[in-house]
Amino acid sequence: MLLNNMITSKQLRQKYLDFFKNKGHTIIPSASLIPENDPTVLFTTAGMHPLVPYLLGEKHAGGKRVTSCQKCVRTDDIDEVGDATHHTFFEMLGNWSFNDYFKEEAIKMSWEFLTSKNCLGLDPNRLAVSVFKGDDDAPFDQESFDLWKKLGVSEKRIAKLPKKNNWWGPAGQTGPCGPDTEMFYWVGDSDKVPESFNDDNVLWVEIWNDVFMQYNKKAEGVYEPLKQKNVDTGMGLERTLAVLNGFDDNYQTELFWQIILKIEEISGREYIENKDITKSMRVIADHIRSAVMIMGDDRGVGPSNTDQGYVVRRLIRRAIRHGRTLGIKENFCSKIAEEVIKIFSDVYPEVERNCQFVITEIAKEEGKFRNTLEEGIKKFEELKLKIKDLKISGIEAFDLYQSFGFPLEMTIELAKEKGLEVDIKGFEEEMKKHQELSRAGAEQKFKGGLADTSEISTKYHTATHLLLAALNKVLGQGIYQRGSNITAERLRFDFNWPEKLTAEQIKAVEELVNEKIKADLQVVMTEMPKDIALKEVKVSFDPSKYPDMVKVYKIGDPSAIRQAHGAEQGRSTGSGQGFSVELCGGPHVEHIGMLGRFRIVKEEASSAGVRRIKAVLE
Ligand code: ATP
Ligand code: MG
Repeated sequence: MLLNNMITSKQLRQKYLDFFKNKGHTIIPSASLIPENDPTVLFTTAGMHPLVPYLLGEKHAGGKRVTSCQKCVRTDDIDEVGDATHHTFFEMLGNWSFNDYFKEEAIKMSWEFLTSKNCLGLDPNRLAVSVFKGDDDAPFDQESFDLWKKLGVSEKRIAKLPKKNNWWGPAGQTGPCGPDTEMFYWVGDSDKVPESFNDDNVLWVEIWNDVFMQYNKKAEGVYEPLKQKNVDTGMGLERTLAVLNGFDDNYQTELFWQIILKIEEISGREYIENKDITKSMRVIADHIRSAVMIMGDDRGVGPSNTDQGYVVRRLIRRAIRHGRTLGIKENFCSKIAEEVIKIFSDVYPEVERNCQFVITEIAKEEGKFRNTLEEGIKKFEELKLKIKDLKISGIEAFDLYQSFGFPLEMTIELAKEKGLEVDIKGFEEEMKKHQELSRAGAEQKFKGGLADTSEISTKYHTATHLLLAALNKVLGQGIYQRGSNITAERLRFDFNWPEKLTAEQIKAVEELVNEKIKADLQVVMTEMPKDIALKEVKVSFDPSKYPDMVKVYKIGDPSAIRQAHGAEQGRSTGSGQGFSVELCGGPHVEHIGMLGRFRIVKEEASSAGVRRIKAVLE
């Protein structure tokens, strides 16, 4: 089915943003794909991600209503890539209410945008929704159910689903969370729209999700109503563009089609030739598109062996391997990248600005990998003949990784095609043995979501608190945080101080931190109202920016420890407040003895009146 009035991606973005602007929202630009202040995740995974501080109560300069089109990367979805609707890079349209409108207005606006002739004009008869059905923690979302009914959605088209489907958050163990309501569009034949909605049928494609943050999950597992109620919505640009233009396949929209045509031209194969070819072309288009967007970001990174760089490397290598499956013999990835750059250059000017870097890096990576790919495949074929128990051992998989640059999932994929398995655990053990710790970290993080906090980041986070406390002791009180950044390799900490630290001061700070680590002080977290917390804790930021309920992390406070254990067994570490007290979202280690040795590797000026320390745990 083709509609007469095709709509372009550019028009769709604009329509969405204008609609919500007219409803009092401030249009905000897409944040970087690489989060600026969140070491716990590699990429921005949703429109809400850069807005977390505002959902927690900080004031947004744009007011209480904002809207955006956000660049997202979900490495979690990589196994889904090859179907018609999941990508590793995609764009998410969204609108937010920070303690302003709630369910009624949000649902009404969603419905109006979807169905009104001036907006998307989708046929209401092809739409269905789902709402949270309720469980022991939180009740059925009657309000959303009633609102949809009132808008004319038949009860048979409102599915009541459990937490697995219709609940968001919290991002970590505790924090804001709540029910959501999802909107689906029927992409099958128009005369075959089922009367009832069944979310198992893939012809119902989820296009939009409205999340209602109305609970705070506490450490004890209790869901208490939140004072600040937020709305967080996300609509997939690619899926919505597809359904608007009558496609049941995102790759046929103008966001992908030129890329597919280029792959057809280079390979001499046809997209619709057979299932396998379609899949390989989709994987190539998706992966090169993601690699270009990650590298072309203003905080972009090229292929490497750690973190985001390793994701880029794996995306490119997997694309090359699928190119080989299509019979492509020559280097082709930069030609595909050029098509991606053309598609995005006027929407995301940074991609055009960084195109030289993108093209060069892709070509370099492809050159490097092509040298070993053929040999690696040969090795794989030999292995296949040798194997008796249908399982590739950890050592063999690791050899493919180390000698031929095969990322683990590529070996798994190749194995699967031949009906073989891979000993993943064995691979990981080999990896550890070879002390490729940072790479192993990237392997884990590749699957990570918003809640994935790697152990090493947590350690650095706690070490940062110790550092601030030690600076205050050594330099005198009045030292505040001016910036902080944590990677798997080090912490970086900016603070107010007018001059270079002397060698003695640096040594004293290091020694104090190491003394505390040696004493294995305990870390205790207490949640309390902000007003009470601010009486005893000095903070580095404007107090109005903290939410009403805050977490206080104390390190080495005997009274806090006694409270936490309900007994007189606190370690004697001095009196009063203990060594460090800070308001912080966490997470932290429980005992600091596990931090190892703390060493300051650099002390330098950051800006006028601000010094910067880089430190490592060894
Ligand atoms: P699905 O169940 O289809 O994976 P989701 O529940 O993970 O979707 P949300 O986290 O609610 O999706 O994201 C909001 C919207 O973003 C979805 O309604 C969808 O339109 C879009 N979206 C989510 N994941 C992807 C993806 N991998 N590729 C393209 N669009 C996506
Ligand atoms: Mg998903």
